[in-house]
Amino acid sequence: LEVTIGEALRDAAARYGEGDAIVSVFQGQRLTYAELDRDADRVAGALIAMGIRKGDRIAIWSANKIEWLVAHHGAVRVGAVVVTVNPALRQEEARHVLADSGSRLVFAARAFRGYSFVSALENMRSALSDLEEIIYFDFDDTGSDWFEFLNRSPQNRRRVEEAEGRVSPDDPCSLQYTSGTTGRPKGALLTHRNILNNGHFVGERQKLTSADRICLPVPFFHCFGLVLGALAAMTHGSAIVLPGESFDPESTFDTIRRERCTSFYGVPTMYISLLTHEAVHQADFSTLRTGCMGGAPCPIETMRQAVERMNMREITVTYGMTETSPISFQTLPDDSNERRVTTVGTVHPHIEARIIDPQSGQTVERGVSGELCIRGYSVMPGYWRNPGSTSEAIDEDGWMHTGDLATMTSDGYLQIVGRSKNTIIRGGENIYPREIEEFLLTMPEVAEAYVFGLPDAKYGEEVCSWIKLRAGANMTAEQLKARCKGRIATFKIPRHVRLVDAFPTTASGKVQYFRMREAELELTRPAKGPD
Ligand code: ATP
Ligand code: MG
Repeated sequence: LEVTIGEALRDAAARYGEGDAIVSVFQGQRLTYAELDRDADRVAGALIAMGIRKGDRIAIWSANKIEWLVAHHGAVRVGAVVVTVNPALRQEEARHVLADSGSRLVFAARAFRGYSFVSALENMRSALSDLEEIIYFDFDDTGSDWFEFLNRSPQNRRRVEEAEGRVSPDDPCSLQYTSGTTGRPKGALLTHRNILNNGHFVGERQKLTSADRICLPVPFFHCFGLVLGALAAMTHGSAIVLPGESFDPESTFDTIRRERCTSFYGVPTMYISLLTHEAVHQADFSTLRTGCMGGAPCPIETMRQAVERMNMREITVTYGMTETSPISFQTLPDDSNERRVTTVGTVHPHIEARIIDPQSGQTVERGVSGELCIRGYSVMPGYWRNPGSTSEAIDEDGWMHTGDLATMTSDGYLQIVGRSKNTIIRGGENIYPREIEEFLLTMPEVAEAYVFGLPDAKYGEEVCSWIKLRAGANMTAEQLKARCKGRIATFKIPRHVRLVDAFPTTASGKVQYFRMREAELELTRPAKGPD
């Protein structure tokens, strides 16, 4: 698509004006595409009145709400770059993002899960020299800043159109921070062309139409929610349905039933929580057809149940990363479950992929594993104010080096082997955590399993696993290890096993291996003597 996001929204309003754009079940509100377009104009008008210009950064610090999307569409319409801030961040982390991005304006919720953004923002305000104004979304006793803001400049339609006319598809519109799975999140700068087209192609693969209603528990601040959700929906006239501020199984069941959702999006851990929740037996999934699962590998049993119990016959698996807007591979709606769990599908239109030998940089043969590299319209122009990291990630021929290890099957399906950072090297032997995780998940007692390396004096690294057992299952760490004997190579058997109830995750629900590793090091560190 050769248009900006603002133009694509006008187009959606013209084509699907009366259709729902966004339904917020927990807020009890909904907007049609015509209303979303009108409200985006009101935000755009107010921003122009405030002196916001093309390229200025505007942050949104909030969980999912209708206002999030309205603020986003208003800001990108006038050429601003939206900085999407994770609501799970705390004062110091948020201060870093707001200062690093040089945001002039922050749209914020007042609080999230009992944490007050109002006091955090008031505390950091004096340290942020670029910050001119904070607009809160929510009502309180003194009224609502958000409604006052929307009504600031009612007669600005012509000036909005002028400003919009100066924005082009190759201008940046989004500063998105990576999940922070492997370390500190990095800011990826993305353009209208990058994310609008990616949303379009993701929706096309799922065959979205104006009859589709997507239950979206994944956050807008992450590309999964914004691009695969809001932009895929907008370019096909589908509706986004928000079950809550964050993921929760019961509100998800309720939303799918009440709003007759045809699609559901989530990371594998969300599907696992739905399918293992006691209320799943009463849930009504009869309206579901398709959906997306991505961000991390999925156990086969979870996939089988998503298809059979949740009725998601055309579910697709997506592979991507923030830096590539995000999706580059996706399965086809009629692929088998086997394909859906052993591969991440085929390459998207207008994207090139190659797998290279990390040492020589040469393309490897099909079936051989190496580092996946991506080139095409979806690759970010670069990390925000970080030319060093950008040139490390994107080479001079435009290839984005993903840091993911993959192989390509003879018929063009991509298999993710692991992350180069997570590969365990034990006594010179390369061990891929994913392979061991898949084996552990074949034990009926095991609900979730994650495997990572720990430093070891003898072997360099040792295999460690954190495991959550199914409700009612009974097994000790020693019994689990004993069950591995003879079934996987001895060097792959986890030396350290910890049974846990929960795992450290990013706000989008991805398990953070580096935090498990840190916690394990902390727990196993020999007790220090008195100083
Ligand atoms: P950070 O870069 O900050 O460590 P992150 O890489 O997890 O965090 P994202 O950009 O949100 O941040 O996630 C992209 C990564 O997620 C990919 O590089 C890949 O490792 C993993 N991933 C995405 N989709 C899949 C999938 N379908 N199967 C396996 N892994 C996936
Ligand atoms: Mg990454």
